[in-house]
Amino acid sequence: MDITYEKSLKELHTFATEESCNCHIVCYDTNDVRQVVTDYLQDDTPYLVIGGGSDIVFTERFNGIIISPIIMGIDIVSEGSESTIVRAGAGVVWDDFVKWCIAHELWGAENMSGIPGHVGASPVQNVGAYGAEAGDIIKQIEAIEIATGRSVTIPAEECRFAYRNSRFKEEWKNRFIITHVLFELKSKASPNLTYSALKQAINSPEPTLQEIRDAVISVRDSKLPDPALIPNAGSFFKNPIIDKVYADRLKEQYPDMPVYVVNEESTKIAAGWLIEQCGWKGKSIGPAGVYEKQALVLVNRGGAKGADIQNLANAIIDSVRSRFNITLEPEVYIY
Ligand SMILES: Cc1cc2nc3c(=O)[nH]c(=O)nc-3n(C[C@H](O)[C@H](O)[C@H](O)COP(=O)(O)OP(=O)(O)OC[C@H]3O[C@@H](n4cnc5c(N)ncnc54)[C@H](O)[C@@H]3O)c2cc1C
Repeated sequence: MDITYEKSLKELHTFATEESCNCHIVCYDTNDVRQVVTDYLQDDTPYLVIGGGSDIVFTERFNGIIISPIIMGIDIVSEGSESTIVRAGAGVVWDDFVKWCIAHELWGAENMSGIPGHVGASPVQNVGAYGAEAGDIIKQIEAIEIATGRSVTIPAEECRFAYRNSRFKEEWKNRFIITHVLFELKSKASPNLTYSALKQAINSPEPTLQEIRDAVISVRDSKLPDPALIPNAGSFFKNPIIDKVYADRLKEQYPDMPVYVVNEESTKIAAGWLIEQCGWKGKSIGPAGVYEKQALVLVNRGGAKGADIQNLANAIIDSVRSRFNITLEPEVYIY
């Protein structure tokens, strides 16, 4: 393992704010993770497990230990006529895993091409895009339990995967360090074109895995900034779910407002639309800005400190609240 004291967090998260932490530990295998858990995490020192840092924004110094489980490797565990089980290390870049599946003619991950981050974080928020989500293909998770240092295997059925959610985000938060994820992928062609924007982008009735990947990447690139070029953390705010009666009133006032029915009592509103209506699209406060092509994405225009991002996020929350009486909540983890 590698230990660095007084580490800058800039290169550890895609928003790249100029903050730092007391200590950063990189683990290269399960034994490293077990050792870190027993040697460093058994007192009250705050800690955070980080993957690619693409869902995290540091708005201040982290006074604790950041652990990066950079466990690599993708292996076939078993091959059948219908499906193949694959085991990937937590530190594998998610999109490298997707590319690997495509190269091995395995179906199930292709719609999730281009999502930033590492394999180890994929069960945490049940990453997903274009009608597919990680929970559809995850079979089992291997992890170290932080309180005991014990190795555990957790079947997918126990993870309560839901839309961008799982037990790892709720009652299991900070309980495990995920070391490997086992996926079950289909051996036979099974394109998932339920998402209409993806279907429209694909010309062929029987697309190949590579054609699907190319279409997904091109749709994504037209909407989202590449964090390597413009630091960001994807969707900054959740789409708010509000009372249907109030949503209907707003819809009368703003017929163009996109609404999604949740159930008889609740309606989901597009946070990006609310932010755009308040005039924020393309605007900045200092080095923190709102992306020109998608108001839901906040960006670091260069040299932003955590406080710059926090100021911008607060200003957006205030203006959406005063115009629409709706309170936006962050989608990203804020530290
Ligand atoms: C441009 C952009 C586009 C995006 N598009 C999408 C999208 O289409 N769909 C989508 O679902 N998400 C999307 N995201 C969000 C992000 O990519 C996902 O949430 C991804 O899973 C985060 O992975 P990560 O490795 O960067 O996790 P991190 O940000 O490092 O961590 C996220 C959470 O997982 C925990 N965690 C990470 N690794 C481990 C581990 N090994 N063990 C235990 N806990 C762990 C962390 O503690 C934290 O709570 C996007 C982000 C960006 C910047």
